[in-house]
Amino acid sequence: MVDIQVMRNGTRVVRSFKPDFVLVRQHVRDASEDWRNLIMGFHYGGIPSINSFHSIYNFQDKPWVMSQLIQLQKKLGPENFPLIEQAYYPNHKEMLVTPKFPVVVKIGHAHSGMGKVKVDNHHAFQDIASVVAVTKSYATTEPYIDCKYDLHVQKIGNNYKAFIRKSISGNWKANTGSAMLEQVQMNERYKMWVDECSQLFGGLDIVAVEALQGKDGREYIIEVNDSSMALLGETQEEDRRLISEMVLQKMQVLCKANTMSGPPSQPPPPVPGRQMPPGQGPPPGHPSQQGAPGQAPVAQMGQSQDEDTMQNLRKTFAGIFGDM
Ligand code: ATP
Repeated sequence: MVDIQVMRNGTRVVRSFKPDFVLVRQHVRDASEDWRNLIMGFHYGGIPSINSFHSIYNFQDKPWVMSQLIQLQKKLGPENFPLIEQAYYPNHKEMLVTPKFPVVVKIGHAHSGMGKVKVDNHHAFQDIASVVAVTKSYATTEPYIDCKYDLHVQKIGNNYKAFIRKSISGNWKANTGSAMLEQVQMNERYKMWVDECSQLFGGLDIVAVEALQGKDGREYIIEVNDSSMALLGETQEEDRRLISEMVLQKMQVLCKANTMSGPPSQPPPPVPGRQMPPGQGPPPGHPSQQGAPGQAPVAQMGQSQDEDTMQNLRKTFAGIFGDM
C-alpha cells in the first residue's frame, strides 16, 4: 500500500492506494535526495515498473554503473566503445596519487553537474581531497576533455534519438547554464552504444548514453543514464508519448497476467474511496476512508473490466503527459 499526502481545502489528507505499475522519471538519489527506501518498498511489493526496480537500484552509485561500462569496453574493444579513462577513490585518504592535469573530480553520487570540479594543479587537487573528506564519500577522477560538444544518445523502447549540446554560457559543464541543443542523425555506432547499454542490469526500457566529442577528434563515453534521464529539445512531447505508450503496453501484459494468475476467490485489493476489509486498510478515521475519489494512476484489472480500465488509464496518462 502506498500512502500519499495531498492538500484538500487547506487540510492535509492521506490517500492510500495499491499501485499496479510505477514509472520512475525522477532521480532516486541526488546531491540532497535519497528515495531508495521507496524503491525498496515497491520492489518488496513486487510492483512492475519502468525501468525495473532492480536496474534502478543498481543506478544509485555512478561508479557501480561505470564498472559495468568497463566490462562492456573489455567486450567490445576501446575502438567500438570509447569509454573515458577513470580512476576510483573509495575515500579521500586514497587521493594521494596525483593525476595528470587538468582533471575532473566527481564527488559522490549527484546529477545535473553537482559535485563535479575541474582541477588544474596539485594544490587545488589537495584542496578538493579535503572537501571529499567532509563528504564521507567516494570520488572519481577523469582527464578533462577539451570538447566541441556533449553527445546524448537515447533509446526509449525501440525509438532512438541523438542530440548534441554546446555550452553558450562558457561553463565547462554543458548541462549547466545555457546551452545550444541540436538533434543529429542516429548512426550505427551510436545505436550499438545505446543497444549494448540497454542490456545492463537485466535490461533498461529507457536509457541514454552521454559522451563528449573532443577537439582532438575522439569520442569519450562518460556515463549512462536510466529512466530518470532528462528529455531534450523539441521532441520532448513525442518522447513523453512514447514513454506513456510503453507503460500502457507493459501494463496490458503484466497487470492482466497478475490478475489471471491469482486464485478466483481472491478479494479485489482496496482502492481509494472504497471501504477496506478490516485489517487491510488504514485505521478507522484514516482520511483515506472519507470517500473522495483518488487521483493516482491506479488500475485494478478485472478480466471483464480490462477495456474500461485501459480507457481510464489512457485518460489519466493524457492528464499527466498532455493529450494522447
Ligand atoms: P547527470 O547526467 O546524471 O545529470 P551530471 O551532469 O551531474 O550527471 P556528467 O554528465 O558527468 O554529470 O557531467 C556534467 C557535464 O560536465 C557534462 O555534460 C560535460 O559537459 C561536462 N564533463 C563531464 N565530464 C567531463 C570531462 N571529463 N571533461 C570535460 N567535460 C566534462
